[in-house]
Amino acid sequence: MSDTPRDLAELLAGAEHAIVLSGAGISTESGIPDFRSRGGIWEKHDPTVVGSLATFLSRPELFWRFHRGRVEMLEGVEPNPAHIAVAELERRGLVKAVITQNIDRLHARAGSVNVIEVHGSLDRGVCLRCESELTLRETIARADAAGNGVPLCDCGFQLKTGVIQFGEPLPADRIRAAHEHARRADVMLVVGTSLLVEPVSRLPQIVLDGGGTLAILTESETPYDDRATVRLRGRAGVQLTETVDALGAA
Ligand code: ZN
Repeated sequence: MSDTPRDLAELLAGAEHAIVLSGAGISTESGIPDFRSRGGIWEKHDPTVVGSLATFLSRPELFWRFHRGRVEMLEGVEPNPAHIAVAELERRGLVKAVITQNIDRLHARAGSVNVIEVHGSLDRGVCLRCESELTLRETIARADAAGNGVPLCDCGFQLKTGVIQFGEPLPADRIRAAHEHARRADVMLVVGTSLLVEPVSRLPQIVLDGGGTLAILTESETPYDDRATVRLRGRAGVQLTETVDALGAA
């Protein structure tokens, strides 16, 4: 059995509080590799080393050498039709929030407004000592000015990217907001995440427990496939653009 974008459109059209949960798979069409998949970035770099809070604190030069590369990669990418379709669904009032594991800011750049980034975002520098936040541009300028590539806060401490690192607690306010939306959701559309990583792996169960339904659009299997009301496969950009088309002009 294979569902169609029209099935998804009908589900969304009848929803009161639909939300989107997205992961790396929604951004692969923008040219961002899924770092957990084969050939991904973590095959070349041990995530427990370069992506850890401990490395940031003890070896900031190594941390920034790695993350500088990610920043530069993200500067060259654009939102793809899947991000644009999700933003259009929110603009039409059919989607209330986008919860994402992605740190690439492509949802916001596509026009989504209520985006909850549960793993943080690469698009800023943050200070763990005085809690200052700087724009990405300013952070990079400071990295360039520093001899060792490590940007410094005005307070003198080294700046970290806004991405939540291994060993760092997830942002409690965003996790709370994600849970709140999941409790209220009558439809959750899952795009491009195999739902294996905490904390998002728990959110579909919260939706189901509250009597909501799941729509899942991923290439890979997920633990919730059997319980999805609509199950789509294939390219997210194509499927979601067809979903918006099926909803008609608005
Ligand atoms: Zn500071």
